[in-house]
Amino acid sequence: MEMYTRLYQLMRLARPHKLLTHQYELELESNQWLKREEIQQIAWQKLKKLLDHAYENVPFYRQRFDKIGLMPQDIRTEADFCQIPLLTKDDIRENSELLIAKNFNKNKMQRQVTSGSTGVPFVTYYDHHFMAANVAAFSRSRRWFGWEFGDKVAWLWLRYEDCPQNFKEKMISFVKRERWMDGMRPTQQKMQDFAKIWVRWKPDLVAGMGNVIHLFAMYLDNQNITDIRPKFVETTGMKLWPHERELIERVFQCPVSDRYGSFESGSVVAIECPQGSRHVFQDFCHVEILRNGKPAPYGEPGEVVTTPLYAFGMPIIRFRLDDVAVWDDKICPCGRGLPLMRDIVGRVTSIFTLPSGRFLYGGAFRHLVLKDSTNIKRFRVHQYSKDKIEISLEKAAGFDDSLVDLVHARCLELLAGEPVELTIQVVDELPTAVSGKLLVTTSDVPVRLN
Ligand SMILES: [Zn+2]
Repeated sequence: MEMYTRLYQLMRLARPHKLLTHQYELELESNQWLKREEIQQIAWQKLKKLLDHAYENVPFYRQRFDKIGLMPQDIRTEADFCQIPLLTKDDIRENSELLIAKNFNKNKMQRQVTSGSTGVPFVTYYDHHFMAANVAAFSRSRRWFGWEFGDKVAWLWLRYEDCPQNFKEKMISFVKRERWMDGMRPTQQKMQDFAKIWVRWKPDLVAGMGNVIHLFAMYLDNQNITDIRPKFVETTGMKLWPHERELIERVFQCPVSDRYGSFESGSVVAIECPQGSRHVFQDFCHVEILRNGKPAPYGEPGEVVTTPLYAFGMPIIRFRLDDVAVWDDKICPCGRGLPLMRDIVGRVTSIFTLPSGRFLYGGAFRHLVLKDSTNIKRFRVHQYSKDKIEISLEKAAGFDDSLVDLVHARCLELLAGEPVELTIQVVDELPTAVSGKLLVTTSDVPVRLN
């Protein structure tokens, strides 16, 4: 172990508020080696504790449980648990105050605004338990690949608000040895700059949006840069296609671990181990896969529904993630009992190539153009050719035509003078893709360098 890594770990333990994270780390570390049934049992106990707390302290759940005549003590089996109505993004948007536990101080929690992948912005709050467990979940999966606290992390990220903003955050990031790079507009110049820094700095982990990392790997391959060698690459955000994975693994000469998570459910809901199996962190976030409202059998696709088990400040119980996945009944040769999931069909976020050859990460539409438009229910952005982009907006109550002008103006700003024919159409209901999942930002233009 490197000297800095040892030193960093000692520093962590010397900070009392990190003790909770340390406690959760120990908990998650030991859970993973238990048998699948034992892990389910642990998850169930945590779930029961969360339900009791929610009924006692959270007005939204008190009302919801009373309405259907259910008391937490009546919930003894998974079938009983299924009686609790699913929580939608609209529910969170409309009830964010009522979802906060009375015994938590909202001002001491971290406010998160997420645009979701198919929906509209809504606010969630992270309490200290949730944040500590989130760190512990990250560290469990990263240790699978030999990473330790204090190892260098290079992030290719796109949400500006996640990156260190002020002096204090920048200092913390410096001590943690994290470097953040803007993945929203990955120009060749930026990729050249990143490459120079990374060759010198030698990150132990490259993390970020899968297709932005893939684009960066294409650039490195093109330039014949072969000396960025992290321990592993952690991708997230969208489906990683086999050819993308193959290129990333070849260029960085290390394994890729694809992570599945969300702002509401926790950063690591499921993640791939060194053997390539996608383990579900069931002891961190309880996951259900439902088909017609009932648990889907192994091998059959269903809707992903999550209950983060450490979110007490704003409990999120049976949350519809709007993704589709399949349980896998295999036992992973790595020896971990965490259950397995496969075939996640989730959001699709393409990289758009603009007429000048510049790239734009499709998520920019989600994060910059439609970020606060609560009167838009769902949207889809499609690029037919470099100079033709169509945006479809599905109306929500309160929609009015001035929103179209706002979206149009923001798009023009985003496209920064590129000669693109932009069409915005407003519809009552958007057609849903075959998987049941709306494809959010898609492009017919293949990504090419030069
Ligand atoms: Zn495994």
